[in-house]
Amino acid sequence: LCMKEKFEPVLTPEELRSKLPEWPYFIIDLYHWDKHTQKEKGKVCLQVSQSYGLLRDYFTGRELAVTWASDEFERMFNGPIERITTYAGPTAEFLRENGIEEVVLLDPWAEEVLGEKDFDVGAFIIGGIVDTGGNKKKTTPKIGEELERAGIRVRRRKIVLKGDIVGVPDRINRILGIILKMMVEGKSMDEAVYEFQ
Ligand code: SAM
Repeated sequence: LCMKEKFEPVLTPEELRSKLPEWPYFIIDLYHWDKHTQKEKGKVCLQVSQSYGLLRDYFTGRELAVTWASDEFERMFNGPIERITTYAGPTAEFLRENGIEEVVLLDPWAEEVLGEKDFDVGAFIIGGIVDTGGNKKKTTPKIGEELERAGIRVRRRKIVLKGDIVGVPDRINRILGIILKMMVEGKSMDEAVYEFQ
């Protein structure tokens, strides 16, 4: 360390925090909760809990929000419910209450691939959907339509591996992990996907 650096005034934690960019919300949207079997609901809960664990590595965990969070979800959730943000109502209402007008919806059916220019939004939305049966095909775009009906601007974006969604894990927590690797660690999409395969 040179002398100049050594005697540079140190920022207080408050000052440091005010200099950091505001972090977005990562929302797991449980709009399709009732389409799941009990066993699948258990899996959704587990993946939410794992998502909290991942987010804590980078942020506080509070940035994880679960919308359409029913009493049943709260009863079944084994993780630290008081450390995440739960919202019983529609996602669009949660967004409005937080002053967020535009979101990125992670959607395997999207035309466009998620890119760096998408990292400026106030919230990323992942469908709280687990597929074990074949009854939930194309349910993610429905989340987007619901948000647009409520006046939210939605950028639908997919995650791909070498240009294709084949080979991309579709678990909620892995999708979140891929976004975090890209956003916080600056990894390429292919690298990030490989780490979560
Ligand atoms: N059955 C749902 C459908 O057909 O739309 C897919 C559900 S997937 C198990 C759970 C969530 O992970 C999706 O709602 C989406 O947010 C996210 N996801 C999965 N694969 C993705 C991909 N390749 N790109 C972007 N998001 C993806």
